[in-house]
Parts: sequence; C-alpha cells; structure tokens
Amino acid sequence: MRREKYILEVENLTWSELGEEAKSTILRAKENSGKAYSPYSKFSVGAAILLNDGNLIDGNNQENIAYPSGLCAERVAVFSAGATHPDVPIKILAIAAQTDGKFTDNPISPCGACRQVLSECETRYGQEMEIYLFGEKYIYHIHGAKHLLPITFSF
Ligand SMILES: [Zn+2]
Repeated sequence: MRREKYILEVENLTWSELGEEAKSTILRAKENSGKAYSPYSKFSVGAAILLNDGNLIDGNNQENIAYPSGLCAERVAVFSAGATHPDVPIKILAIAAQTDGKFTDNPISPCGACRQVLSECETRYGQEMEIYLFGEKYIYHIHGAKHLLPITFSF
C-alpha cells in the first residue's frame, strides 16, 4: 500500500493585499451577484472571470422553480467564457455572494460540480487559474482549481 496526501494551500488575504487584477475581478463578481436570479434560495452569487486577453466574463446563479434546472454562478461564467472566447484561458475567477443585501462575512466556495468544471477548464487550456473567494472578513486565494478537487473525475 502506498499512501498519498493532498494538501490544500489557501492564502487568507485582506483587500489591501490584493493585486489590481484581483480587485477588479472581485468587484465585478460582487456587482454580478446583484443581478442573480435567486428567488428561491435568496442567496445571490456572482462570479467574474478575467481571461488571459483581458476580457471580463460575467456569471451569477440562475435558479429555476424546477431546482436542478438552475445553474451556479461559476458555471454560468465558465460556460459563457467557453462559448464566447473558446480559445482563451482563464486567468482569474472571483466569487462573491450576498443575502438580504449583505455580502457574506466568510468566503463562499464552489460546489462539487463547479469544482469538476473548473478543474477540466485548467486541463483544457493547460493553465491553472487564480481563484479568489470573497468574504467581508477575509478573502481566500487558491492557486489552481485542482487544489479544490484533487482527484477529479476523468477517464
Ligand atoms: Zn456550483
């Protein structure tokens, strides 16, 4: 038997410790959370993607009364990027969420399905992305989606 250990490294940052590209992408994610369609959960998530070519791609959660028909903010943004800029890798992904008009104190993290999609994006483009998860108290920075889902589904 051989044991393997996977370690998740997360930077816990304050706003002033962020670079300009991270700040602008997070601000866009916060803005996008205000445009979410989330009448059922009342949990409005915004995502923003900065592509290698400088384009910003928007996403937010889009719910549906038939719950599984909705989609998370992260996947709305990633699939929109893939649909409109299919050859451009993702440099930064930022996520922010609000409920009752107030952003969450702690960072929110992508669900399992989104982690799978983010991970495949990195494989597709051969580039790891910088992930920023916004919270009012602190911001998580993770280098590479594969750290969020170390053993992804693949065949
Ligand atoms: Zn998700």
